Amino acid sequence: MILTLQPVGRVDASVLQRIGFALAPFGEVRIAREKPLPRPTFGPGPKRYRAATFDRVCKSTDGDRVLAITNVELCDPELGLTLVFGHADIHGRWAVVSLSQFGADGETKLIERAVKTAVHELGHTLGLGHHDANPECVMFFSEKLADTDRKGRGFCPECSELAKLTLSRLQT
Ligand SMILES: [Zn+2]
Ligand SMILES: [Zn+2]
Repeated sequence: MILTLQPVGRVDASVLQRIGFALAPFGEVRIAREKPLPRPTFGPGPKRYRAATFDRVCKSTDGDRVLAITNVELCDPELGLTLVFGHADIHGRWAVVSLSQFGADGETKLIERAVKTAVHELGHTLGLGHHDANPECVMFFSEKLADTDRKGRGFCPECSELAKLTLSRLQT
């Protein structure tokens, strides 16, 4: 499948490349040209963006899956979440990952957290739900950074099996 990384707002090019490289097992990774941020919404904090508004930004980007990458903070008021690392629609075509919370421990850690979040959100677009029975599985719901740091960057065998069906349809 073609997986397009869509920077939204200013995102470091080398960070994008490193994330893209790590996602290569999913298919052909393309990096699109930066798009402007959507209109900021009045979330619980200043300059926090409703994750769902990235839907409009991703709509005009080509690819079997579009993964928006941004440095701004995201919230998900529909789910009652005031700060989220990422968001995706189950079986949808797009997802978004925010780097805003990942950078305090150096770039390698930032990339690792971004990749885990990206795989998690892509998992949702492939139809996977949360796998909270397995804290090692990338589909475990990360409520805090410690959750992300603990879990692996791949699907457990169970989730992998479920994702395979959708993935195989996208391998053309
Ligand atoms: Zn999730
Ligand atoms: Zn799993």
